[in-house]
Amino acid sequence: MADMKQYVQDTLDLIGKRDPEQKQFKTTVSKVLETVVPVLEKHPEYKEQKILERMVEPERVVSFRVPWQDDKGVTHINRGFRVQMNSAVGPYKGGLRFHPSVNLDILKFLAFEQVYKNALTGLPIGGAKGGSDFDPHGKSDNEVMHFCQSFMTELYRHIGPHVDVPAGDIGVGGREIGYLFGQYKRICNAYDAAVLTGKRVDYWGSLARPEATGYGLMYFVKNMLDDKNISLKDKTLVVSGAGNVATYAIEKAQEYGAKVVTCSDSDGYIYDPNGIDLDAVKEIKQVRRGRIKEYVAAHPQAEYHEGCTGVWTVKCDVALPCATQGEIDIESAKALVANGVIAVGEGANMPSSLEAIEYFQQNKVLFAPAKAANAGGVAVSALEMSQNSERLQWTFAEVDNKLKDIMANIYRCAKANAEKYADPDDLVAGANITAFVKVADIMLAHGLV
Ligand code: GLU
Repeated sequence: MADMKQYVQDTLDLIGKRDPEQKQFKTTVSKVLETVVPVLEKHPEYKEQKILERMVEPERVVSFRVPWQDDKGVTHINRGFRVQMNSAVGPYKGGLRFHPSVNLDILKFLAFEQVYKNALTGLPIGGAKGGSDFDPHGKSDNEVMHFCQSFMTELYRHIGPHVDVPAGDIGVGGREIGYLFGQYKRICNAYDAAVLTGKRVDYWGSLARPEATGYGLMYFVKNMLDDKNISLKDKTLVVSGAGNVATYAIEKAQEYGAKVVTCSDSDGYIYDPNGIDLDAVKEIKQVRRGRIKEYVAAHPQAEYHEGCTGVWTVKCDVALPCATQGEIDIESAKALVANGVIAVGEGANMPSSLEAIEYFQQNKVLFAPAKAANAGGVAVSALEMSQNSERLQWTFAEVDNKLKDIMANIYRCAKANAEKYADPDDLVAGANITAFVKVADIMLAHGLV
């Protein structure tokens, strides 16, 4: 054990030496590698073949200039990236994020997570992440279009249906995917539908893709709770976020008979003791692109609070962080546990800090880690690629049923490996081990690449 722990430490030291400023990447890697020590022990060939050193070094990183002009004719220069982390399991796959916080450190940690998340789906997709520090908030459609066209004018040469297939993430939704796809098609003179996923249904997107991450999260949480004979019916849920993930998690939770009392955006959160009126949230966020505080005008029983951490002080049975990384710190975790939370399901990528996760586990809170619980989005992206390849579209029910099976399978595999190698309820270790072994074995089969 000591030998393999040292191997993990040496790999982390290597990251620290090469990229001392990439703290989030190193933290993410450390958490994953810590949990796979038992399989490193069992497979000495992983160390012999330098699998860890290879896994923490992206296969390729592209960084580029994105010049564009706003409606007033003022020129702006943003930075674009694509981190192509690992293509052992399939073409690189992962979202594009447009947000001022985007930098190489964040994209590398997200790309690293994506490799294992994508492997968990059981579908043929490798891992990548990309994006820009461009802020779409407050920009006109025209400005967003010009930005997307400029971004794709460089990105197109690095992607393709068999090379790298981006999709949306924070700040990149159906509108942006449309503009990106239009520009790719124009430059390449090819209707390669499978070059991007999350497309609108009328130009070969998949039915159930917008719902997939949120529904998938609830399918995973339901599997986890069913295993303990806990029903979601009449349970109180708190949700953060009001984007695609949160919206459709709320929809499915309500279908299961749960009462969801919160949701939020980057300004603050709403608490509705009667349960969130989802049609109103969809109207505000999807139709009007408004702010969540507008909800209270037509719902006098609801409260609006500035800031987002207050969500985690609301008493609940299940908490679903669906906004962004790092939104549950140790203080929020303590508040949730003090209020008797039974389960936490991560809809966003890495929303809980490492201390928060440890605290949940020590306090026997059932914990569904992002890379397993939110894999439904990218899974349906892979199904969108399948549909594009056969130039057919499946029905909503066909996609949704496949999604249900995929999430159940991810749960089963993560649970089985937790039981085999760690604490039987440690789905963090279970998911990491399942995905790691799959990626590592394929890398070995491909030789030294
Ligand atoms: N951005 C989503 C994720 O974090 C989806 C990626 C995709 O569909 O490629 O998994």
